[in-house]
Amino acid sequence: MNKDMIKVVQSELNRMHNANLVVDGDAGAKTQLALQQVSVLPTNWKTKRKLIGFIQHVATLEGIDAGSIDGRWGPQTENAYSELTYKLEHGKLPEPWRQEEFTGESSGQWPLQNEAAMNAFYGKVGTNQGKANSPYPLKFSWKPSKSTMSFTCHKKVAPAIERVLQRVLDHYGLPEIQRLGLDLWGGALAVRKMRGGSKWSTHAWGTSIDWDTARNKLRWGKDRASLARPEYDFWWKCWEEEGAVSLGREQDRDWMHVQFARLK
Ligand SMILES: [Zn+2]
Repeated sequence: MNKDMIKVVQSELNRMHNANLVVDGDAGAKTQLALQQVSVLPTNWKTKRKLIGFIQHVATLEGIDAGSIDGRWGPQTENAYSELTYKLEHGKLPEPWRQEEFTGESSGQWPLQNEAAMNAFYGKVGTNQGKANSPYPLKFSWKPSKSTMSFTCHKKVAPAIERVLQRVLDHYGLPEIQRLGLDLWGGALAVRKMRGGSKWSTHAWGTSIDWDTARNKLRWGKDRASLARPEYDFWWKCWEEEGAVSLGREQDRDWMHVQFARLK
């Protein structure tokens, strides 16, 4: 929860609840009092949890899928916040720029990104899950104080992921991985629809992984996304040599995301 997020909370408390707060990014007594007036937030929540819950609440009212209002910051809230700030800045949600289905003949060993091809190759969404082990700790990008040595993904893609991470470790070494933020894991399996779309996300099959979500927001292009920089070329080469697709490298959007589903 940074100052910008608190400013969003304060200005929305002013707009929706006439709270008359100074928008200074400091969650002081007046802001806390205003949050107490918001009926969807349980009174026993601590201030930080209420701030997060309020962002989830506002996003939901604005037609953004923020998941349940639980006051916890995770990948879904992170993306809802990103959509919300876009809407507050531009007055509308972004156009759905995402082509959702790709048809024809796959040029690689993985299926094309379309529901029929994905179901045929991987099975139904959320099924056939296994684990990918990492040779170095992966920090949760939404909570870097916590880390994991493995994560759930489709069992068909797990070996490829493990080969990539091993090559990345051999090439960069741990200190450089940490400096570059290549250990910031943003989630893999998530049985949900595409953000701003109607089809299943490739995450629903456990065939996509997000990395360093804070510095590679959904709608950022190569001018802003950290993973677009030249020092990450080897990282992407490792994924691409396994047949995986970077939406950043292919379409200059969603640079956090890599998927075992082809666009062509
Ligand atoms: Zn993703």
